[in-house]
Amino acid sequence: MTTDRLKENLVSLGFAPSEEQLLRFVKYYELLIERNKVMNLTAITDWDEAVTKHFVDSVAPFGNCVPELFHIMDASGEVRVLDIGTGAGFPAIPLKIMFPEVSFVLFDALNKRVDFLNEVITVLGLSDITAIHGRAENLGRSDVTEEPFGRLREGFDIVVSRAVSRMSVLSEYCIPFVKPDGYFVAYKSEKAEEELFDAKNAIDLLGGGEADIKEYLLPDTKLRRSVIIVKKISPTPEKYPRRAGKPEKKPL
Ligand code: SAM
Repeated sequence: MTTDRLKENLVSLGFAPSEEQLLRFVKYYELLIERNKVMNLTAITDWDEAVTKHFVDSVAPFGNCVPELFHIMDASGEVRVLDIGTGAGFPAIPLKIMFPEVSFVLFDALNKRVDFLNEVITVLGLSDITAIHGRAENLGRSDVTEEPFGRLREGFDIVVSRAVSRMSVLSEYCIPFVKPDGYFVAYKSEKAEEELFDAKNAIDLLGGGEADIKEYLLPDTKLRRSVIIVKKISPTPEKYPRRAGKPEKKPL
């Protein structure tokens, strides 16, 4: 196992990874493989595949594939990012490794995965990152607070999510947490346009504005990826998100 290709891929995305950052990816991989023996974290266990499909895939849209996103992360002042349905930590943990100054909150509906994430945070020595157990539909209500943050709703500059649900459902999970003028970034592979078309009504009702699709290939591969970027233009009406399970059953 060598970090050469990981380093090359990160450099080609415009990052300048330090030895410490590369070592953090290795430790994360080792922990993932170890804990995957006793809980279901990932189907990808080969190092090279994990490098491409988990690590590089997670950071690509915040590198030079989508310069606008890189600039938001790199902005001076505090940037707060939320990852909804992070699972084993994607895309949040690779993003935190590459953007150590940015503050991260991670949600997952499965407690075991949150325990795993807390172990990752400790072993990698990460700070200003918190994993919370819960469903987005509950955590996004305006009367829900979480110490030390207070209200989570409309508290984030960027909300990201990968492989959690289709865009119409995901919009109701994610947009309530975005500050007005902030961004919701949905990681997608194919069919982004179709998904976006079906989600137009939901985005509009939730306070989202124009949506933009950015497509790119992962470095050194023919793997096509895209992100749908939605800018929030007005506060989300109080009635959203609806109760847990409803967005999935009856998308807006
Ligand atoms: N984002 C990770 C990735 O790309 O590898 C995990 C994807 S996994 C297929 C989906 C994750 O979303 C699961 O860990 C699940 O528990 C979580 N999830 C699904 N619905 C959720 C909700 N409404 N609120 C919070 N987490 C949710």
